[in-house]
Amino acid sequence: MRDNTVAFIGAGNMAQCIIGGMVRQGYPAENIIAANRSPEKLDKLQQDYGIQITTDNLVAAQKADVIVLSVKPQMMADLCRQLAEQAPECKEKLFITVAAGLPVSRYEEWLGQVRLVRAMPNTPALVGLGVTGLFPSRCSVYEQSFTQDMFAGTGQTVWLEQEAQINSVIAVSGSAPAYFFYLMQAMQQVGEELGFSPEQAKAMVAQTALGAATMASQSELSFEQLRAQVTSKGGTTHQAIETFKQHNLETTVKAAMMAAISRAEEMA
Ligand code: NAD
Repeated sequence: MRDNTVAFIGAGNMAQCIIGGMVRQGYPAENIIAANRSPEKLDKLQQDYGIQITTDNLVAAQKADVIVLSVKPQMMADLCRQLAEQAPECKEKLFITVAAGLPVSRYEEWLGQVRLVRAMPNTPALVGLGVTGLFPSRCSVYEQSFTQDMFAGTGQTVWLEQEAQINSVIAVSGSAPAYFFYLMQAMQQVGEELGFSPEQAKAMVAQTALGAATMASQSELSFEQLRAQVTSKGGTTHQAIETFKQHNLETTVKAAMMAAISRAEEMA
């Protein structure tokens, strides 16, 4: 399975995260090729992972068995039209797209009735702790297992039965690392105001987030039960949580996640 050549077209943040995860999990670097308009990102990828690189999308697409479309959604139409017009034989290959928002029907407009997996990864893929939602269209069982193997190296995978669930994956995990970074940023800022150095505050917050996430992922208890375990009535944690509640944290979180879904729907 790992003798398939995988071409990433668009070598930005997300492609780098997936490539990093694949190589670290033993996918042969010589079977990965990245194409990007500008060469700087490519040089770094080649240095870091020893993969093949090119600034010519068509070269990458022609060498590949599997084509990963990893440009921004607004760049996708031009890229797909370029492939359909200048490398029509590519339409027989498996496509995987990581773009938010764009439905299968759009790709079919641009590329024809291709075999496609819509994937919604997140950036912790870079450290093997990602979550990727996957929705297949016209794919064989082999192609689904290939995709599963490819993303398994970057963390957990979830197969979706309905395409619309991809937008929910965006809200729950795709965009979510940034929610946690935002919370950590706010906590670091207060830590600094309380007299810690930026390095100390960052380390304390990151280690606490790591510890809490590790406890949650290793425990059978719900998040609520874990929280209750460390919240004695009238204590300091209780006071902090009550303050979050008074400021409607849950409503804010829901509004933010629904806003991510609305934005994905607008992109369609
Ligand atoms: P990015 O801007 O970091 O990377 C996109 C890259 O594509 C850039 O390097 C750009 O130069 C290149 N590019 C643009 N048009 C091109 C073309 N026609 N041919 C070749 N290269 C081209 O963006 P990103 O954050 O990596 O996002 C890429 C995709 O991943 C998006 O569609 C996004 O919806 C999806 N995604 C991102 C995240 C995330 O957290 N960043 C999460 C899930 C999905």
